[in-house]
Amino acid sequence: MTFLDCSVTGCVYNEDRCCCKGEIKVEGSDAKRNDETCCASFRERRSGAARNADKRISKVIEVNCEACGCVFNEGRKCCAEHIGIAGGNACDCQETECASFRCGA
Ligand code: SF4
Repeated sequence: MTFLDCSVTGCVYNEDRCCCKGEIKVEGSDAKRNDETCCASFRERRSGAARNADKRISKVIEVNCEACGCVFNEGRKCCAEHIGIAGGNACDCQETECASFRCGA
C-alpha cells in the first residue's frame, strides 16, 4: 500500500487530492521517463457528476503498476511509500503521469 497524493482534479475519483477508487493502475510498460507513464484508472469528471461523498477517502491505496522499469516496481505493484500522480485538469489518462517514477535502467 502506498501513500498517494493525486493532483488530477479533473478525475471523477479525486477528492481533496485523495483518490477514492480504492486501487489504481499505472501504465507505462516501456517507460523510461515520468511522462511515459499514466494513470489508467483516470475517468474524466464531467459537470454534474456525482461527488465521492459516499466513498471512503483514504490517502493509502493499492497501486498496480505496469512500469516495470521503475525502481519502485515489485512484481507489478508499487512499493514506494509515497507517490504523486500529476495531471491537473487532465481530460484524458494520457495527460496524467506518475511523478514519482524513477528509471532503474
Ligand atoms: S513510483 Fe514507480 S512503481 Fe510506483 S506507481 Fe510510479 S511508476 Fe509505478
